[in-house]
Amino acid sequence: MAKVNDNYLKLPGNYLFSTIGKKVSAYAAAHPDKKVIRLGIGDVTQPLAPAIISALHSAVEEMGNAATFRGYAPDLGYEFLRNAVAQNDYRDRGCDISADEIFISDGAKCDAGNIQEIFSVDNRIAVCDPVYPVYVDTNVMAGRTGVYDKAAETWSDVIYMPCTAQNGFAPELPDKTPDLIYLCFPNNPTGATVTKAQLQEWVDYANRVGAVIIYDAAYEAYISQEDVPHSVYECQGARTCAIELHSFSKNAGFTGLRLGYTVIPKDLKVGGVALHGLWARRHGTKYNGAPYIVQRAGEAVYSQEGKAQLKEQVAYYMRNAAYILEGLKEAGYTVSGGVNAPYIWLKAPGGMNSWEFFDYLLERANVVGTPGSGFGPSGETYFRLTAFGSYENTVEAIARIKAL
Ligand code: PLP
Repeated sequence: MAKVNDNYLKLPGNYLFSTIGKKVSAYAAAHPDKKVIRLGIGDVTQPLAPAIISALHSAVEEMGNAATFRGYAPDLGYEFLRNAVAQNDYRDRGCDISADEIFISDGAKCDAGNIQEIFSVDNRIAVCDPVYPVYVDTNVMAGRTGVYDKAAETWSDVIYMPCTAQNGFAPELPDKTPDLIYLCFPNNPTGATVTKAQLQEWVDYANRVGAVIIYDAAYEAYISQEDVPHSVYECQGARTCAIELHSFSKNAGFTGLRLGYTVIPKDLKVGGVALHGLWARRHGTKYNGAPYIVQRAGEAVYSQEGKAQLKEQVAYYMRNAAYILEGLKEAGYTVSGGVNAPYIWLKAPGGMNSWEFFDYLLERANVVGTPGSGFGPSGETYFRLTAFGSYENTVEAIARIKAL
């Protein structure tokens, strides 16, 4: 008789964003006269840049012609894209990563969720708290997280690394030794970053204890400050302890198009086994490649025009971030983030917890944000707003919040 994977049944409630979606839909249905402004989910709103649209058009033409038609893509991605990534995202920044260490995929969420598969179920994970919920949830599904404590909202076998106002929202080395360390900088949801010296400490620590860092750099394009690293491979020794995840969603607006990549250096070995080979095997077995036309669109991200257009797009969102940050400060909120990331992290006022503040803001200002507790126990009294809305909506949302 079939049995389900009962690890799934251990997952508490719904995925954060479906809960928010349901609450907002219910409110909107009950108040059709109200204009609700959504600064909650981290989805982009600007259309794809012209250089990307043009690459898509040409690739579509190629697919309609027998001489240039492409079928299955190479398992690890097309050479043209892997070369562009290796050159622009790594070698131009002085990082020693080659094209054959890059695995093209259809986005960072899948890779962030799937990467745990190549590790033993006995491995203990450490996560920033708060952080993107996919890391913990996918380890729960794999049976790696122990028992759930409902009151504390924590798993017994997960090492939580609190990122709080006291430590500048940067995690400290944990007391217990983890096997897998998920780091996400710039961080979702806090928008915080670490300096290169701080990241070097993590790399040294991982090499010392034999842990693997899974470094999620999905928001790297938003970094504006000099000493903030764009890649973990800027640190000495990262080739022997770190995997890096990238997305084209936030730097280039591919949330609907879908493209990402994972870097696994060939020197990265666990118990003498090269992780590159394991991930290549997994990719080859379970994945048939990102669409050709999308990989061509990805290549255009690195063209001269593409780079210029995307710089403007990121600047558009960061203008929103600055507006939110300043507006909330003027309104007396305690805020951080928004400088190297499109996320603003604020303390819920008046002793409210994050879901109370969510309801308050939805009902009183018709503005949707994301409750911090959805990202981990240390987010309990915090709230995330995103800069991914239109400028007009951002301005209106801040005016409404100020008027409360
Ligand atoms: N990693 C982080 C930290 C994210 O916040 C997100 C999306 O919000 C992703 C990965 C997912 O990216 P993608 O759209 O490439 O799946």
